[in-house]
Amino acid sequence: MSEQCVFCGHKHLIDKNTRYIYQKDQQMLVVDNVPCLECAFCGEQYFDVLVLHQIENDYLAISQHQKQPARTMQVAVEEFSNLLS
Ligand SMILES: [Zn+2]
Repeated sequence: MSEQCVFCGHKHLIDKNTRYIYQKDQQMLVVDNVPCLECAFCGEQYFDVLVLHQIENDYLAISQHQKQPARTMQVAVEEFSNLLS
């Protein structure tokens, strides 16, 4: 993983745990407390490729009913053109 933000060039990346939202087709998996590096300047987040593979594998296991998620939640979906102005 790079120690420099490829987005803005800032050199200060901090260890953080964050929420990662994996999307595939019309399905979504939300994973909390995922380790990442976050740029202290622009907020861009960097994930280890192994972490991303783990999330993808977990998504597959859940979507193929080999595993139960810890919990589920309802998500509201909107079209931008329908938003209140
Ligand atoms: Zn940055």
